[in-house]
Order: sequence, then C-alpha cells, then structure tokens
Amino acid sequence: MGLPSKKLTKSSKRRRASHFALRKIVITRCAKCKKPVLPHHVCQFCGTYNGRAVIKIKSKLDKKKKKEAKEKTKKEEKKSKKKETKK
Ligand SMILES: [Zn+2]
Repeated sequence: MGLPSKKLTKSSKRRRASHFALRKIVITRCAKCKKPVLPHHVCQFCGTYNGRAVIKIKSKLDKKKKKEAKEKTKKEEKKSKKKETKK
C-alpha cells in the first residue's frame, strides 16, 4: 500500500483546504414570468432569455393530452390483438 513519503504540515493542509468551501448559488428572477432562474441561463418555465423567446416550452396540458392519446392507442392495439387471437 502506498504511504505518504513526507509529513504534510498543518499549514500546507490548511492551504489546500482553503479552496474546499462551497459557494452560495446566485439566483435571479426571470424578466417575463418572475420565476427563479440561474443567471445567464434560459428560463426553464417560459423559454425566454434576455426578454426574447429562445426555446419552445411544452405546457403540462400538452404533455397530458399526448400521454392520454398514447395510452388510448395502446389499449386499442391490445383489444385488436385479443380479437385476432380469439378468431
Ligand atoms: Zn421565465
């Protein structure tokens, strides 16, 4: 097993540890929707950066509708398969 060749002094240890502290997270507000956003990042909620739309955000309602449509098609497929097997 490897061993340290020389003793680390208190000061060298502490000097290294001086960079270990965690920094506080800076949070700003979105200009459009006023939700908390990281600085220099696109808003996750409305998709704007610096006041203009950059990315399209799918609304929760759209996602729900898509999911429902998918489930419906799956159910129909299962039903049709069952009918085919019965015949
Ligand atoms: Zn926003």
